[in-house]
Parts: sequence; C-alpha cells; structure tokens
Amino acid sequence: MGVIRGVALGGRQGAFDITIEGDRVSAIAASADASTPRWLAMPSLVNFHAHANRAFAAPAQRPTSLTDAVAAAGRERASATVEIIRQRAARLFRSSIEHGVSLIRTHTDVDLVTGMRAIDGVLAAASDLRAALDIEVVAFANACADPARVEMQALLTEAVAQGASLIGAVPALCREPAVSLDALLDLAVALDVAVDIHLDEHLDVDSALIEQLVEGSVARRLEGRVSVSHACVLSAMDRDHARRLLDRMAAAAITLVVLPELNLYLQGRGGAPRERGIAPVIDAIAAGVPVRFGTDNVRDWFFPFGDGDMLETGYVGAIASHVDGADDLQALMCGGRRCIAVGEVANLVLVPASSFDDAIARRPAGRVSYHRGQRVGVDAIPTSSGETELVDGAQ
Ligand SMILES: [Zn+2]
Repeated sequence: MGVIRGVALGGRQGAFDITIEGDRVSAIAASADASTPRWLAMPSLVNFHAHANRAFAAPAQRPTSLTDAVAAAGRERASATVEIIRQRAARLFRSSIEHGVSLIRTHTDVDLVTGMRAIDGVLAAASDLRAALDIEVVAFANACADPARVEMQALLTEAVAQGASLIGAVPALCREPAVSLDALLDLAVALDVAVDIHLDEHLDVDSALIEQLVEGSVARRLEGRVSVSHACVLSAMDRDHARRLLDRMAAAAITLVVLPELNLYLQGRGGAPRERGIAPVIDAIAAGVPVRFGTDNVRDWFFPFGDGDMLETGYVGAIASHVDGADDLQALMCGGRRCIAVGEVANLVLVPASSFDDAIARRPAGRVSYHRGQRVGVDAIPTSSGETELVDGAQ
C-alpha cells in the first residue's frame, strides 16, 4: 500500500490523499496538509489515435495537403525495415510513458508493399514496454490499400492473427468508398474484432460516409465496437444535420476520435485557412457520443511537430473545440475517465502543477506515472513482477 499525499484534483477544490493498494485506488480523502498542492493528480493520459510505425520518420516535411502527405508516405513505404519501424515505435512509446500516457492505440500500416513489416516492428517495440504502457494495434489498410480487395483482406486477417485487436481503413481514398466501407465492416464481423476507421477527413458534405457507417454498424450488430477517427465533415454540415447524425452515433455507441492538431493543420490547407476542420466536440458530448482525443501523426509526412504528449493535445483541443470543464477535458485526454475514482485500476499521472488549469497552461515535464499501481518512467519501467515505490506527492 502507498499514499500519494497533498495533491490537487481536476474540478475539485483543496488537497487530497490518494491511497493505492495493489493495482487499485482504494481511497481518496481530503488531505491534512492544507498548503497549496505542488502536484496535480489526474487519470493517466490515453492517446486514442497514433501512427507509431511512422513516428519521427520525416520531421522536416511540410505537406501542402492531405493528398500530398499520402503520396510522400507512399514513396517511403518500400524501404522501411522492421528494425527501423521498431525504433520509431519504441521512441514514441517511451516518450508517451514519460508524458504519463498509459494506453496508446496505434494504426499500423498493412498494405501490399509493407506486408507485415510494420505490424512486426510495432509489436516488437510493444513487447519491451508492456509493463508500463498498454498498446492497442489497429491493422490499418492505409491509403494504398483497399479492404475490398481479397489480397488486403488476407493481410488484415494475418495481422489480427499476429496480435492486432482492431482493423481500420481509409475508404475515401479507395476506388469505390462505399464498397470499401462495407467490406471493412464485413471483415470485422468475420474476424470478430473492433473497427477504428479514418472517415470523412475532409470538409465535403456531399461525399460524407458517416451515415452509411452508422447504418452499416447497426445492421451488423457492431454497436460499441466501432470508432470513427476524424469525421471533420461534421464541422462543415448544417448544425442540425450534424446533431441528428451525432444522436444516431450515440445510439449505436460509436466512439468519435478527434485529432485536434492534425485536423487544424491539414484541413483547409493550401490558402489562408478559414475552417477549423475539427468535429463539433461540444455537440458530440451533449449527444452522448463517447469522444476521445488522440495525437495522430508525430513528426512524419502528415505532421511535422509533437512528441506524443496528450496534455499538449488537450491544450490545443480545448482551444479549438471550446471545451472548458476539467471533467470533460480529462475524459477527452484520458480515454473517457472524467476523474480518479476509488476502486478503479490505479493508472494515474502526477503533474508538477498546482491545479488542473495550471497543468494545461504549462504542460510541465517531470511527471510521475503509475501504471496498474506501479510507478513507471523511462528510468523506472518495472518488470511485470517488479516492485516500485510510491512517492509522497507533496515532497
Ligand atoms: Zn490517423
């Protein structure tokens, strides 16, 4: 058992002591120490959408558009070895642990050129760090890969057999988007896996596929097993129309994954930007849609900045989407957890800040993380049986 003393909590006044027993939070109580907290405790950060196999691959790239970025990524595809991919993914995973991320969902390229190389590289990096970071692998039929093709279905099936727990695709970039979308959903049913799909990453209302996805998910009884990443087009629709779609997403328990940095960076590119390109997060939350944030690409052909810090993404997302409340922002950054609660798994991060707003404002380094009750960090990544020591948060 260990106690973290005198910490601030998001959305609450005062200082608190958090008790951890085994891998659980066993108590949260007002602290006897009334001095101003020096640490904020929050649920561990969760990066719900990344591309670890490409991370840090092209830091100097400045894409002129999403299409330009897709072409640049495609040119490199043949030369990336398993070892290169393992190193990229390991760098992002280690950086994530430093920032206090406890779970990362990474869309991992599966196409006819890459084959299983990206899956193998990411899984190799993941196996070294599993005691400190949960890693969900999406077998991702990327822009060069159509899930309607039999060869691609075989590759996605192989990737799931290797360890991917979800499948994904980019139907808008396939020859017949509607056919490819249905093919992906059919394959998810056949393989009994969840889906995370890059959908409607554009602002063209006439080519939106979100309605087809909702109907296709319900028809296949995939409720609760489908995530939509991007859905930028919702921001370009008439607001009432978008709200009706969000109501239907909520009824089908479809998760909306919003990528603030990438959406702001790539949408409306090619001139002085006029649109935000970010799905209406406030309306989605109001409709009851589970909404999550992710970093998306990190220093690759699609985005030249970032290092996997979800606190940074929360800061940008708060500005872009006008979400103000600490509980809602924590849910967006922390995989749906609005606060630290007694009885839940002790995945939490201490940020050297006096309050939630102070943490968001400065995004300071020097964070202390607990993963299933164990202290973790680049210098203290425990083995699965290793004991780690709790710190006094006020020290
Ligand atoms: Zn993505």
